[in-house]
Amino acid sequence: AAPGSVARAISGRISEKRQGRHAAHCMQTWPASEGEMHHYVVGLGSNLGERERYLTRAVAQIALLPLQIVCVSRVFESPPLGPPQPAYLNAAVRLSSVLPPIALLDGLLAIEAGAGRVRDVRWGPRVLDLDILWANDVFVSERLTIPHSQLPARTFALAPLLDVAPELGPSYAPALQALGGAPRVVGALRFDRTSLGCEFTVSGTL
Ligand code: ATP
Ligand code: MG
Ligand code: MG
Repeated sequence: AAPGSVARAISGRISEKRQGRHAAHCMQTWPASEGEMHHYVVGLGSNLGERERYLTRAVAQIALLPLQIVCVSRVFESPPLGPPQPAYLNAAVRLSSVLPPIALLDGLLAIEAGAGRVRDVRWGPRVLDLDILWANDVFVSERLTIPHSQLPARTFALAPLLDVAPELGPSYAPALQALGGAPRVVGALRFDRTSLGCEFTVSGTL
């Protein structure tokens, strides 16, 4: 399917699921899935406005895609990469889905756009960044590389990743240690499977 049509299908699906009309039969019309389960870790970042709100709303919206959230990480604060800009909050969500990688990417890009993400300066400030950090299968295409190409170089991606996928420690903990360890923990995200809501709980000084 063309990227635009997948994004539209996902937007439609988000509003259906929110209105309680998400039914099992919807899955049969979902694009381009071969029915097998994929396992993903999605990284979240925000450094503009009410950063915690952007993260919690993003988790709630990710939960409306055709996927199951397995767990959500603590929230880390770190200095920006790129041009001078406010500090970032970062977190990660571990999920399982029938969505193939490109369809998940389109869903995430639609959520970013809905949050008001504007792309101008490379690595510039943003209300919301959703990156696919890791998946159980390597994926490389023009639009998408999994694992994320910068993962081994970024504490703000490695720390949330290892929070939700501690079994990846042998692959990624040495890189995190070499970079100086995890950024500061400022809180955690709590996802409620029943209400599909997400809350931020503070565990430090913001
Ligand atoms: P960085 O990739 O260095 O974290 P960024 O997140 O700011 O930078 P974006 O503007 O959010 O970059 O994304 C640009 C494009 O990167 C996306 O539209 C997507 O096609 C591509 N991309 C490649 N690999 C990934 C990935 N693993 N997760 C998300 N986007 C990716
Ligand atoms: Mg990014
Ligand atoms: Mg991105």
